[in-house]
Amino acid sequence: MEFKTVNPATGETIQTWRKMVPQEVMQTAQLAQEAFQQWRGLSVAERVPYFQELAVVLRENLGDWADLITAEMGKPITEARAEIEKCAWMTEVYADNAEMWLADEKVAADGREHIVTFQPLGVIFSIMPWNYPFWQALRFAVPGLMAGNTSLLKHASNVTGCAFAIEDAFRKAGFPADVFRTIVPDYETVSALIASDIVQGVSLTGSTEVGRHIGAEAGRHLKKVVLELGGSDPFIVLEDADIEFTARGAVTGRMVTAGQSCIASKRFIVVEGIADAFTSRFTELMGALKVGDPRDETTQVGSLVNEAAVAELEEQLAQSVSLGARVLCGGERLAGQGCFFPPTVVTDTRCGMRLVDEEVFGPIAPIIRVQDEAEAVALANASEFGLGGSVWTRDLARGESVARQVESGTLFVNSITKSDPRMPFGGVKNSGLGRELSHYGLKEFVNVKGVNIYDHG
Ligand code: NAP
Repeated sequence: MEFKTVNPATGETIQTWRKMVPQEVMQTAQLAQEAFQQWRGLSVAERVPYFQELAVVLRENLGDWADLITAEMGKPITEARAEIEKCAWMTEVYADNAEMWLADEKVAADGREHIVTFQPLGVIFSIMPWNYPFWQALRFAVPGLMAGNTSLLKHASNVTGCAFAIEDAFRKAGFPADVFRTIVPDYETVSALIASDIVQGVSLTGSTEVGRHIGAEAGRHLKKVVLELGGSDPFIVLEDADIEFTARGAVTGRMVTAGQSCIASKRFIVVEGIADAFTSRFTELMGALKVGDPRDETTQVGSLVNEAAVAELEEQLAQSVSLGARVLCGGERLAGQGCFFPPTVVTDTRCGMRLVDEEVFGPIAPIIRVQDEAEAVALANASEFGLGGSVWTRDLARGESVARQVESGTLFVNSITKSDPRMPFGGVKNSGLGRELSHYGLKEFVNVKGVNIYDHG
């Protein structure tokens, strides 16, 4: 079956591809399984140089691969370059720390020696989304491979060029053949692969709906699964927050990748006493952003991923406006070619409106006013999601207290939510299960094995 990758900013076709037939997918999986037998035999120290070289290769090819990201999914070129650089940095963090993070642990029990050791599982199958085409795929693959597994990547179809560029990165870095392979299966073959004896674990980053489906398939076949799913992160502004600092943070938090980030700030929960001043400055800054050609170095907001994304935003906004929400800036797609939607601030929003209840994957910021901190926390938690979030206040102890009360995988005080390879990343509730990054991510797809030694006789 043929399909095309399309530049969402221009509507132009980039390339025509074809799905692999099931036999081709299974043969590739078989090769990854054979590669595992060798790769598992290396010590972590022996694997490290491959990753050091991968970081070099990512930086050497940064220009071309950033262009490819921008062409396939529409983010500004400056963001695409930063994404590749972040991948190189994350790879170095694992190269520097993996030996320590995967070291055996000793436990005192009733025998002579009790050792906890972390052994690879085999072929891990990753299914990834388009919004950070390099970052999402490598954020899984680097720790997965470092732990001694081999990996198959099924990327989102619209970033198939990136999927093969990532495979190329491993090849260029000199990794043994088939340790990392990109496949282009149809959905039926994805299911067959999960069911097969070859695949020992599944990692999906994507929507909650697809997460339920893939999680159920993995569960049916008793495969370890990590699910990184949707989010609707609260951005909580307390009355003592600095207006300028917080408004600027709100713009960055909402607008990264044109708002198409799982950890974008999606619900702006603002305490009454500061709401007018915050809303006014935030709206001013959002309205001043430069939207347009993502290849232009000065563009701050690129294209949305496709027409369906624009239509979904329009529907979420229209339903909320019909229930009383008011648009302060933006609100209508930009005329002309490409999937462009302007930064949009909406006030008088509340639960029951789609902009508040659902994940809004684009540049719309609903502002919800609350009386006090307690109401802010209650509202932050009144969501099916629990990925990230932030709280903005001059009182750091109060910020930490709020951070501890919000139900999410990560919470930031006076910073937008961001991922960092040294810290765990993942969600609770419908935002998923399991963790990526840090030593927690490194240990998701390992056999945590106890070796227990007793004296003889
Ligand atoms: P998606 O529609 O769920 O797709 C994710 C991946 O699943 C793609 O590779 C897609 O392939 C594949 N897929 C979809 N339906 C499938 C099926 N029935 N069987 C097998 N594979 C299937 O998500 P998306 O639109 O790419 O990404 C946006 C979503 O991802 C948002 O909800 C966002 O919050 C979430 N996300 C979460 C995180 C996190 O870390 N928590 C990070 C980034 C994004 P095709 O392209 O071929 O359909």
